[in-house]
Amino acid sequence: MDNINVKENLETVENNIAEACKRAGRDRSEVTLIAVSKTKPNELIMDAYNAGIRDFGENRVQELTRKMEELPGDIRWHMIGHLQKNKVKYIAGRVTLIHSVDSYELALEISRQCVKKDLKQDILVEINIGDEDSKFGVPYEKVTELVDRIIGLPNISVRGLMCVAPNVDNSEKNRNLFKKMIKKAVDINSNKMYDVNRDRSQSDKVLSILSFGMTNDYVVAVEEGATMVRVGTGIFGERDYLTGRI
Ligand SMILES: *Cc1c(COP(=O)(O)O)cnc(C)c1O
Repeated sequence: MDNINVKENLETVENNIAEACKRAGRDRSEVTLIAVSKTKPNELIMDAYNAGIRDFGENRVQELTRKMEELPGDIRWHMIGHLQKNKVKYIAGRVTLIHSVDSYELALEISRQCVKKDLKQDILVEINIGDEDSKFGVPYEKVTELVDRIIGLPNISVRGLMCVAPNVDNSEKNRNLFKKMIKKAVDINSNKMYDVNRDRSQSDKVLSILSFGMTNDYVVAVEEGATMVRVGTGIFGERDYLTGRI
């Protein structure tokens, strides 16, 4: 535990991503590696920073805002965990991307806070892709409707979809769920209705970000088309929730 070599782990992860891109005929630049640093101390985060990583993921607002203050200002912070409405005010407009929007009420609160402070926030809609009771996220059938409603809100942009796939022993088991994710994004992107009410300067698609793949299945995720993978354990080692939480 104490001898985690972040730099070496990152080299392994980077090689795996590059190989998966090659197999899938994708350019490496299409995939952003997010180092999930939840529960991990600043020293380990700086090891990753010094190895060139700038995208970091956290799942708790308090920990995220503290690290934001303590660590270099050019870090792009990603809120990847379940977000309560009463915590939105601490991060809205301050993080690069909120991955975990799963209700209209949450989107509305992000929009409200951003309007109040004259800020903008990019978000992803989280899908409960495995239809698991234990997971957050909107049911698959409700995604289009939610995206539809959020698109109408000011100062918030839906940039893509996110999911936390089931924890499986063999990552191949999640391949079809990842295909299903992609299909939803393709379906929504093909809806011409969105052309009229969206600024297309950043991308020709409504949903261009697909955030899926964690330590156990990021290779399959890259092969299937993820544009962001969120890797924690594979970079920083196992998490100790008893002593690691600050
Ligand atoms: C913790 C977490 C990860 C990283 O999980 P690992 O298995 O450690 O790679 C990715 N995404 C979310 C939403 C998480 O909460």
